Formats: sequence, C-alpha cells, structure tokens
Amino acid sequence: MATFRIKAVHETYKRKPVSVTIKGKRSELFGKNVFNEMVMRETLSKDAFKSVMDSMEVGARIDRKLADEVAAAMKNWALSKGATHYTHWFQPLTGATAEKHDAFFEPVSNAHAVEKFGGDQLVQQEPDASSFPHGGIRNTFEARGYTAWDPTSPAFVYGTTLCIPTVFVSYTGEALDNKAPLLRALQAVDQAATEVAKYFDKNVTKVNATLGWEQEYFLVDKALASSRPDIVLAGRTLLGHSPAKGQQLDDHYFGSIPDRVLNYMRDLEQECMLLGIPVKTRHNEVAPNQFEIAPIFEEANLAVDHNSLLMDVMDKIADKHNFKVLFHEKPFAGINGSGKHNNWSLSTNTGVNLLSPGSTPMKNLQFLTFFINTIKAVHDNEALIRSCFASASNDHRLGANEAPPAIISVFIGSQLTKVLDELEDVSKGKLSPQEKTDLKLNVVGKIPEILLDNTDRNRTSPFAFTGNKFELRAVGSKANCAKPMTVLNTIMAKQLKDFKAEVDQLIDKKGLKKDEAVFNVLREYIKASKRIRFEGDGYSALWEKEAAKRGLTNYKTTPAALRAGITEEIVELFEKLEVMSSVELKARHEIELEEYAMKIQIEGRVLGDIARNHVIPTAIRYQNMLIENVKGLKEVFGSDFKKLASEQMDIIESVSHHIAEINSKVNNMTEERRLANKMENAQLKADAYCEKVLPFFEDIRYHCDKLELMVDDHLWPLTKYRELLFTK
Ligand code: ADP
Ligand code: MG
Repeated sequence: MATFRIKAVHETYKRKPVSVTIKGKRSELFGKNVFNEMVMRETLSKDAFKSVMDSMEVGARIDRKLADEVAAAMKNWALSKGATHYTHWFQPLTGATAEKHDAFFEPVSNAHAVEKFGGDQLVQQEPDASSFPHGGIRNTFEARGYTAWDPTSPAFVYGTTLCIPTVFVSYTGEALDNKAPLLRALQAVDQAATEVAKYFDKNVTKVNATLGWEQEYFLVDKALASSRPDIVLAGRTLLGHSPAKGQQLDDHYFGSIPDRVLNYMRDLEQECMLLGIPVKTRHNEVAPNQFEIAPIFEEANLAVDHNSLLMDVMDKIADKHNFKVLFHEKPFAGINGSGKHNNWSLSTNTGVNLLSPGSTPMKNLQFLTFFINTIKAVHDNEALIRSCFASASNDHRLGANEAPPAIISVFIGSQLTKVLDELEDVSKGKLSPQEKTDLKLNVVGKIPEILLDNTDRNRTSPFAFTGNKFELRAVGSKANCAKPMTVLNTIMAKQLKDFKAEVDQLIDKKGLKKDEAVFNVLREYIKASKRIRFEGDGYSALWEKEAAKRGLTNYKTTPAALRAGITEEIVELFEKLEVMSSVELKARHEIELEEYAMKIQIEGRVLGDIARNHVIPTAIRYQNMLIENVKGLKEVFGSDFKKLASEQMDIIESVSHHIAEINSKVNNMTEERRLANKMENAQLKADAYCEKVLPFFEDIRYHCDKLELMVDDHLWPLTKYRELLFTK
C-alpha cells in the first residue's frame, strides 16, 4: 500500500509540462466554435435571423418553419467544425451538466446515409432522464421530462459535438433544472428594473442582470490525487496532518506560476477562447497549489452557462496535463478553501450600468435608487440569501476565518455610508428649493469623486459593493451560479416592484414631484435596512455577537440554512413573481437535503474505510516493528533495556491508544449512520447526519493524524499533505 503512495510520488518527479500549441491570437480565436450572432447573420435568412434575435431579446416564440432553417444552418456550420454529434446540453439538479449525444448520421437505405438535423431536434428533445433528481415532481405528475432550446445562450461545438443549451422541464412544466428558474428570475428583474429605470431614462426597454464569477480551484498531480481514496470518492481529504509549511509565509499568492500549471492554464484559456468564454485573469491564490480564473462579466444566463461549461473543460484539460482539479470548497484542512465570488449588477439596453455612479446628479439619483434598493432587498431576504449557497462542502468554509461568515451583511465603504447618512436626513414630503439643491449638489452630485478615492475594501464581507457592482462572496467554488443568481434577481425584482408602487403612490396621491418621491422612499429604505449594513471585520467574534443583537440570522449548517430558506413568505415571493411554484421549491428543498445527507454518508463510509483498512493496519505493522525492537534490546541488554527502549515503549502504548479510539469512534459513527438512514423525513435525516454523524469526523481524524506523525514515513499508505500541496 505504501508502495502505491511512493510510486505515485515518483511518477510526479518524472512529469514534464505537456506542451501546448497556441493556434493564433486570442482575439482571432474568440468565439470560433460558437454559433453566435455573427455566424447567424451570415448563414440565416433575414426572417430567421430576426426571429432568433426577437426570441433572445423579448422571448418571442420561434416559428417551426424558421426553426428548420436555423437547424439546417447550425448543422452545416457544426459539420464544418468537425462535429459528428449533437446534444441538448442541460443543467439538472445534480449541479453538474448533462448531455446525451446523438449522431447527425442517418441511413436512408442500406447503401446510403445522410447527416440530418431538423427544427424538431433543435427545439425539443426527450432525454431518458428518469435518474436525474426531481424531488418527487415526476412521480406526482408525469413520468417524462423534456429539454427545450434556450436561444438566449448560443450553441457551440465542443470536441466533436454540437451542444445546444436547453432548459429541462417536466411535461407539466415544472422546472427540473437550474436554468429554467434562472431565466424566469431574469425576466422578472428585467421587467421590474426597466420600469424603475424609466424614471430616469424613457428609452430604456430592457435591463439585463450581469454576472462576473471568479473561479478558485486547486490543482493536484493526477497520480497523487488518485492515490487518495478520499480525494477520489469525496473530492477532499478527510484526514492528513498539516505539513510543516502551509500558507503562513504568503509566498504563493500572486507568486510566479509554475510551468506545468502555466501550460495547463494556456491550454485551458485557448479552449475558452474558442468556446467564447471571455476569460481574462489568472493568478495564484492564497493556499499552495490554489489558483483562480476569471472572465469579463456577461449577461447572467450566459455567464452561468459559461461557468458550468468552464468547470467541465477544466476537468478535461487537466486530465491531459496529468492534473486533477479540485473544485471542492475545502479540500485540505488548515489552509484556505475555494470560493466563487459572484460579481453582480444590472445594465440597460442603452448601455448603462445601473450600479455605476454617473457624472450628473440625475444619473446619481438613478445609481442611488438601484444601490439602496439592493441593500433593502438583501436586508429583507437575508435568510433566503444564506440558504442559496448552503451545501455540505461550503459549510467547511463559511465562518472559518478565510471566507465570509454565515451571517449576511452588506459592506458599502465609508464614503457611501456618509452619503446614505446625509440622505437619511431628507425631510419628509415636499422639499424646499434649498433642500433640493443641497441634496442634488452636495450629496448626490459628488458621488463619482467620492468613489474615485474610495479604496477601502473589506474582504470579510459576504456582500460588498465594489465601485460599480456588488460582490456576493459566500458562493462555493463547486456551486452552480444559477442558484444564487436566481435568488438575487428574484428578490431584486420584488424590491423594485415595491419601490415603484410606493413612488407612484407618492406622485399620484400626494402630488410629489418624481425626484421628491424617490428621495422620500429611499430615505425610508435607508432607515429600514440599517441593520444589514456592516463595515467592520466580518470574521471577528464581536460581529457574531453584534449581529445576534441586530436580529440577523446565523445558520451555521446546511440543514439549518435550508430549513430557513423555505418559509411560507419565501414560497409566496417566488410564486408571486412566477419564478418557482411551491411544488418546484419543495422539490428542490428535498433534493438539497437528500444531497446533503448522501454527501455526509459517503464521506463517513470513506473515512471509516480509510481509518480501519489503511490507517490501523499500518499502525499495527509499525507497532510490531517496535515490539520486535524492544524484544531485541531486552535480549541484548538484559535488565538495562528499559532505558534504551523507553521511547519505543511510549509509542507502542500510544499507538494502541489511538487504535482503540479510532475503533470505538468508527463504530459509534456507523451506528449513528444506521439510525439516520432509517429516517424517512428528509429534513430530520439531514439534521441527524449533521448533528450526530458529522461530529465524529474530527475525532477520528485527530487520532489518524496523530498516528501519521508517529508511524515510519516509509510505511504510511496515504499520500501526505506536503506531497499533495507542494509537488510542482
Ligand atoms: P476583483 O474583485 O478581484 O478586484 P475586479 O473588480 O476587476 O476584480 O472584477 C472582478 C469580476 O467582476 C470580473 O469578472 C469582472 O468582469 C466583474 N465585473 C466587473 N464589472 C461588472 C458588472 N458591471 N457586472 C458584473 N460583473 C462585473
Ligand atoms: Mg473579487
């Protein structure tokens, strides 16, 4: 066994960087494998082109005949790129992506075949999807589900397959995936934000949510990763003693990127260019062997697709370079985990970022409107936001002094705090002419200058304003961004609708001018949402106390956060905005709870196996070596042996102690698992896994890690942290 570890380590010494041929300038490669607007303009008739554009912009249906034309053009284009198959590419509730490939090839007779792909195949498919999670939806309603083309995200060729982004729904229309609710949320926020943006500019007819994610990940040599059963089966290490050196020297962050890794990144970026994923930034992260890749932001639906696709591409290219990518939020104890910051904003079809301060007081009033409404939305829905990034793996990261805590708060910086403080003093009702001028010129008019030198950044905040966007930092590295984006845009839609209604009422009933009405409502929001604003250290124990005093929630585990994420009000919110029905929400809730329980179950089994079948036998072998040694010393030195063998005898005793502890803890954990498995109710089962099973992990690990420090390095079967983290 130990030889397996040593062989894997040797293998890594022999590795050379895999060479990469770059095919041309990035700008020339960009979007080459995407059936994008440019290609459509060249290959479609005017009618068909307009029809696809309309469907992208306003969600209009595409006529079946025109769909045939689009399909034919898509097929020819895909064949010219070397595609042989097509697939409806979708994002089931497993969080990953799914695809089933069909060949274009179709025999016409036994001597003759053609490549075929029509509108029917483009628009709708019926994958045999009975084994995707559905939370009971397809049992209660219809057994079948279908995928339907999403024209707002362009088709692309990856490898030899034409991939068509689709939504996945049941025959009765319930969403079975992550994309369908996202599209509905984006539509809701578009409608609500457009109405509000019209206060400031009548020409606005559409508002897009924008998303720029930052993907963190670890790269581990493939042979080393495969030598660890916990990495293979659970995506993280369940035991392993910290190496003598970790991240304490801060020498990895932004350091020079090792050649092997750089070649991987270049290969990855080249593929991203071809697929139209606009990746722009790459760097080392804080922990050893941890890195980040980030694109330029895009419309949220496209950005979500691109992140899902990227994770897939990262896996495949890593394999070629003899790496394994770890997307897990906490693959190694004792060093930083990985997140996926979601940078979010709203932008109009007239090209204005609604969270970017402008050059005139009017533009700034618009900025403040969207800015303050966002804070209010987060304030009113903090528990829902907490639940949208809850997962078994993210639980290890949140609140661990390396990522935001489980408490939601908003950071805006001292300068904007001052602006809001001044606005709060706006008098009620009509403003005097002097007040109006003061407000507009002194407060609202100064914002761009203020922001220019507002450099304070608070990395400890889960939701921070960073100059022209908000950054949701609590999302896990493994997560599908669709979920946080669905939640954020839904609560924003609700908030903006309420805001519009209140402002209109002040204008219609109280006869206030528009600006006055806006100021009045914003003032109330500033007051009402004050407790969500926090500028201090989010990692500190003091904040936890202060937040409790403010009545903010602090759900430390996934089962608790999920429970709080499905109250009656929340169900009503989603139903009213037609983002998700109660059936869809409850099904998702169920799936997430089950997933949580299964993840802990798998980890528990793996940990039990490693502890019993790898660690204990190795410890016994080493103990036997020591016993032999002590016996020998006794033979040679007679009664004097005790002095010479005292260290050995201590270790012999210690080993027995740790073995006994591991044994009893594994037994107890297994018993708790058995009890949890009997539970029918998904919530109670998840609770049991969280409260009864999970706590054993730390205990078992503690004793295994102690043994790692004692046992002969040559015998130790599991690849060690220093090998996993420092092999270049
Ligand atoms: P950092 O936060 O690491 O300092 P940046 O501020 O440059 O880095 O941006 C991080 C991410 O935010 C990038 O992916 C960028 O494209 C994205 N971003 C910038 N502007 C917007 C916006 N208006 N909407 C959404 N994302 C944005
Ligand atoms: Mg950032």
